[in-house]
Amino acid sequence: LAATLSGCGLVSNGDNQEAEKPAGAKDGDKIVIGMSMDTLKEERWQKDRDIFTKKVEELGGEVKVLAANGDDATQLSQAEQLISQGVDVLVVIAHNAEATAPIVEKAHKEGIKVIAYDRLINNSEVDYYISFDNVRVGEFQAQAVIDQAPKGNIVYIGGADTDNNAHMFKEGAMNILKPLEEKGDIKIVYDQFSKDWKPEEALKNMENALTANNNDIQGVVAANDGTAGGSIQALTAQGMAGKIPVSGQDADLAAVQRIAEGTQLMTVYKPINAIATKAAEMAVAAAKGESISTEKSVNNGKIDVPSILLDPIAVNKDNLDVLIKDGFHTLEEVYKNVP
Ligand code: BGC
Repeated sequence: LAATLSGCGLVSNGDNQEAEKPAGAKDGDKIVIGMSMDTLKEERWQKDRDIFTKKVEELGGEVKVLAANGDDATQLSQAEQLISQGVDVLVVIAHNAEATAPIVEKAHKEGIKVIAYDRLINNSEVDYYISFDNVRVGEFQAQAVIDQAPKGNIVYIGGADTDNNAHMFKEGAMNILKPLEEKGDIKIVYDQFSKDWKPEEALKNMENALTANNNDIQGVVAANDGTAGGSIQALTAQGMAGKIPVSGQDADLAAVQRIAEGTQLMTVYKPINAIATKAAEMAVAAAKGESISTEKSVNNGKIDVPSILLDPIAVNKDNLDVLIKDGFHTLEEVYKNVP
């Protein structure tokens, strides 16, 4: 046993109840991975779930998925349910970066390792984090908007305040915008989060930004495609859609169609196949008590979490073929509304 455990490297099995056997080593048993999801609302999360599940199955395991519909208490109780069902590893897509910390503690008490998927779990001893370079995502968004609107009034339509990613996207955007504001080139005239990433919250934010500035706005940095959709709806009502640049993220089909039509400037494509496949491999390896090599670490307020951060890709109307080549969307669906 000591030999098996010594391979674990990054993870201490010292004080958990299951220390007698590495997690997942219930001899002969199939590996079971629990997946606790915030939501399935945005298009991407269904792909994450499906690709992750398929890959774990290919590796001989099975996945139990529960989605919390954006509710912290539901996510906590669903995670507890998965833990009590004896999953070998828990993969969490946190609705709330802070409120999910107790999930990690509860899982660890049962000797279950936790992987934070796409979204970090703050102030916890979460075992691994796999995501994209989210600061870079925000930089891509702001840079693309600034390239089209180098001077004037810029609006920032953020994501959910409760999602650590929303803060990183904003950090990245501000890396680009703040120095330009200091130079006097631009002014950030509105900057708000959109509750739970809801397009209707983004719509309200954008309406407020337009009203407060008498429509004198030259560019919109929206944090994802859902918030971009809400923002563009507000712009459409003022006859401004397609006249000023709007960013996004996720390469949702509706957004990619807007890019083809010209009402959205760009999106940030994060290959879901890559993150879901890699996460599945990590989860199965962790379930077998194998060590996982990670090149980076991200501090979550408590520890430096061993991390894998994949590269996002900026996509505009000139390189939409990236999505088609990757099989993310088909040519027909992308240009469906373009004559
Ligand atoms: C993800 C984005 C997604 C957003 C809303 C973020 O944490 O990184 O891809 O658009 O959540 O679900």
